[in-house]
Amino acid sequence: MTAAPDVAQSRPVERLIEDGLFRLDAGGQPRLIGSRCRGCRAVFAGRRALCLSSFGRQLEEALLGPGGTVHSFTTVHQQSRNSLLEAPYTIVEVLLPEGVIMAAPLVECMPAEVAIGMAVETRALRFTEPSGDVTVSLAFVPARGKGGKAHQT
Ligand SMILES: [Zn+2]
Repeated sequence: MTAAPDVAQSRPVERLIEDGLFRLDAGGQPRLIGSRCRGCRAVFAGRRALCLSSFGRQLEEALLGPGGTVHSFTTVHQQSRNSLLEAPYTIVEVLLPEGVIMAAPLVECMPAEVAIGMAVETRALRFTEPSGDVTVSLAFVPARGKGGKAHQT
């Protein structure tokens, strides 16, 4: 009597909107890609060839987040021509636990409800193309408060 989620049945081809920005975890949710210095362990956003702390050149990939807090934000009222999001929407700069700041849209949140210090987490945004293929982009959403009140009976 298991109700299997129907998402695993026939997944369409998924393409990430940008190379090197994030990977999808087993649950299909994005993890931001950073770089960690093998020498001094400093972490940087994105893929780096040089450590700015020790000038070491031995950096490895580090997956960042997925949670963080809003460091700053701005609300976009004028939609750009190729934007997949409808204005008004908010772009947040998020401070990740690794000490790195990353910017992305904040969705599932009214612009008036955004605040500095608010807990957010990464979320995949999936857009179906006319071909049926799916482009996966990245956004932040308000954090769901894991490990708190959600009890299952
Ligand atoms: Zn270093």
